[in-house]
Amino acid sequence: MSIFDGLEQIVETDYPLAKCTWYGLGGAADYFVRPKTVEQLKQVVQRCNENEIPIYVLGAGSNLLISDDGLRAAVIKLEAEKFAQTQFDGEQLTAWAGAELAKLVLTCVKKGLSGIEALTGIPGSVGGAVKMNAGGNFGDIGAAVETVTLMDSQGNIFEKSKPELMFDYRCTNITAKFILNAQLKLTAADPEQIMRTVKEIWIYKKNNQPLNTKNSGCIFKNPRGVSAGALIDRAGLKGLQIGGAVVSEKHANFIIAQKNCRSRDVMRLTDAIKERVKEQFDIELELEIEIWN
Ligand SMILES: Cc1cc2nc3c(=O)[nH]c(=O)nc-3n(C[C@H](O)[C@H](O)[C@H](O)COP(=O)(O)OP(=O)(O)OC[C@H]3O[C@@H](n4cnc5c(N)ncnc54)[C@H](O)[C@@H]3O)c2cc1C
Repeated sequence: MSIFDGLEQIVETDYPLAKCTWYGLGGAADYFVRPKTVEQLKQVVQRCNENEIPIYVLGAGSNLLISDDGLRAAVIKLEAEKFAQTQFDGEQLTAWAGAELAKLVLTCVKKGLSGIEALTGIPGSVGGAVKMNAGGNFGDIGAAVETVTLMDSQGNIFEKSKPELMFDYRCTNITAKFILNAQLKLTAADPEQIMRTVKEIWIYKKNNQPLNTKNSGCIFKNPRGVSAGALIDRAGLKGLQIGGAVVSEKHANFIIAQKNCRSRDVMRLTDAIKERVKEQFDIELELEIEIWN
């Protein structure tokens, strides 16, 4: 009997992950799994446990760098219809993990619901956004999330609500393997006013970020009270290149993957930046992107 007997429909083997990430980099996963139901997800988790296969949960791959050697693991993506649902009930929104954040922001604008417009211009899925507490100068998703439905690595499903559920700068205290959905509290507001905010944020991002390049957003978290981008800029590292990876001239906290870039180029460049910033300012930069290897 094979590991995923009976689940062949949702499991692919030796699956190239590069196309699943915004960087477009990385090798193949031994198993790539797209469950269609919560029950199937449970079965997959159980089979992985029985066979000691590590599990990675993939959102839209916009905050990830995956090793060129790929992963001896099962990468699970919650993108099937069941996992991408959104349900509105007055000012309450239940968004499943696979729902696309950008679309959801616009749906909320149209419905005249304020609360997540601060996430304009942030790519990704609801699951990834909640896990990372995605946000920025304009606010973060954690402010609107009240409750999350989670599944742990044994397949148990449970909820976690504020105040037990906590969000901080680019992190949460969610330790369960899977975020299945999130319940958000929004506020009724004038759609035109929300749209004005969306446009302002877009203009800001267009002016400050290297849009239309292959990148993964900010590489490093801002150390307390300082901008990582400003430190990298002051260290004279804009334009620094290793292999096909280059520090953006527009925003020093972005590393752009050029043609023929490999994941290892980005990794070596992040190491070089960390070293130079440490040398010059005695500050340890911490990665914001996640590296899977
Ligand atoms: C151009 C660009 C601009 C960006 N700007 C911003 C910004 O302004 N602010 C900001 O915060 N981020 C920004 N990012 C980073 C990224 O978009 C966010 O971190 C986003 O929330 C990641 O979501 P994702 O679905 O792509 O997650 P992924 O990158 O796929 O995964 C990120 C993490 O979330 C986990 N995860 C994903 N789904 C689930 C789930 N269902 N259950 C449990 N864990 C899960 C993954 O295991 C991983 O640990 C930017 C990225 C790009 C490419």
